[in-house]
Amino acid sequence: MQQDLAPTPTAPIVDPGIIEDYHAHIYYDPATTRDRAARLRERVAAAFPEAKIGRWHDELVGPHLRSMYQIAFPRALLASLLPWLMLNRDDLTILVHPETGNAYADHTQHAAWLGGVLPLNADVLRGATKP
Ligand code: ZN
Repeated sequence: MQQDLAPTPTAPIVDPGIIEDYHAHIYYDPATTRDRAARLRERVAAAFPEAKIGRWHDELVGPHLRSMYQIAFPRALLASLLPWLMLNRDDLTILVHPETGNAYADHTQHAAWLGGVLPLNADVLRGATKP
């Protein structure tokens, strides 16, 4: 019986200490939800001045198949910014992922989604070290 509980060789334990920082990708539709995304952006900037808010990407970029902008934030902010986003995302879909140096894994098996899971073109990240 105990053998059934043994970890498999394909699922090693990963030390969260390898996480450098985090990204939150805020998805929106330029035609319908850009105003809400703008309001969220302003509120995050006001509440979390340490967060680095990236440019608007109405045009698709990287693995993302919806318009989005990125919020990069340090490890120390996760415990406050994540619940803030949970409560204030205003029905927008958000991908939160760590930055471990493996962009492919960070956007797939390491990803946490708020509000739903959107498809990604993660193949473009294979072999990449930064998203
Ligand atoms: Zn990212």
